[in-house]
Amino acid sequence: MQALAQVEMKTMAAAKPEEAAGLAIQVEAVHKYYSLGEAKVHALRGVDLKIAKGEFVAIMGSSGSGKSTFMNMLGCLDKPSSGRYFLEGVDVSALDKKALAAVRNRKLGFVFQGFNLLSRTTALENVELPTLYAHMEKEERVTRAREVLAMVGLGDRMEHFPSQLSGGQQQRVAIARALVNKPAILLADEPTGNLDSRTSVEIMQIFQDLNDSGLTIVLVTHEPDIAQFAKRIVVFRDGKIRHDDLVRERPRALDVLKTLPAVDED
Ligand code: ADP
Ligand code: MG
Repeated sequence: MQALAQVEMKTMAAAKPEEAAGLAIQVEAVHKYYSLGEAKVHALRGVDLKIAKGEFVAIMGSSGSGKSTFMNMLGCLDKPSSGRYFLEGVDVSALDKKALAAVRNRKLGFVFQGFNLLSRTTALENVELPTLYAHMEKEERVTRAREVLAMVGLGDRMEHFPSQLSGGQQQRVAIARALVNKPAILLADEPTGNLDSRTSVEIMQIFQDLNDSGLTIVLVTHEPDIAQFAKRIVVFRDGKIRHDDLVRERPRALDVLKTLPAVDED
């Protein structure tokens, strides 16, 4: 408990209290080195970034520019070599592995390019899985899993196995799984990388809806068309942020879908 109090104190030092309260993410002077035998790779070279609650940020940049390294840090899967990372005001760069895992499970939802679903497990069971660590009663867990599956439009596919679902449907299961513990932030690394263009826009429609209802989203993509659906685009090059701009006149995925030919999924 005392450790927690100290963590909260550090928060105050980092940003003005009124600002810190509105920030989902605050990254300060972050560097990341990887050791490769004798060689050292300097993957992040002084990154500063603030993301307010309710933002929808797309991260772009060529291969090797540090996007995944940065996302792994945001996702508490890896720590910066130096610098600080505040997640909802808490300095998580100071936490040990166990504490990081707890933060990850409580505050973050992840979506990946490859869906990462368990293949011998139904959509419902896949979505239920993260709730096992969340101290929920069985009944509440199933109810919650059903709710989020319905939310992503899969109310009628709950008993299907991943192999019985299209790519877009599998990614929606993965999104439901990411949402089941009510995360504060959704992190997605190339979530549309394996999907055709219409299905990609459908996934972006879900993201825009979730963001409209208040969820903070950080998405990595190399596709400019996909990045346009976010509210802000941050571009990495050589381990640094080179551009950081608001998206003007961003399209609504729902409108774009009306212009794309429909495909049958059944
Ligand atoms: P991106 O996601 O933008 O393609 P990465 O963050 O994966 O970029 O990589 C940034 C740099 O760090 C690259 O030079 C890459 O080779 C290096 N790198 C990434 N992960 C590791 C690792 N685990 N060990 C050593 N070097 C790494
Ligand atoms: Mg990457």
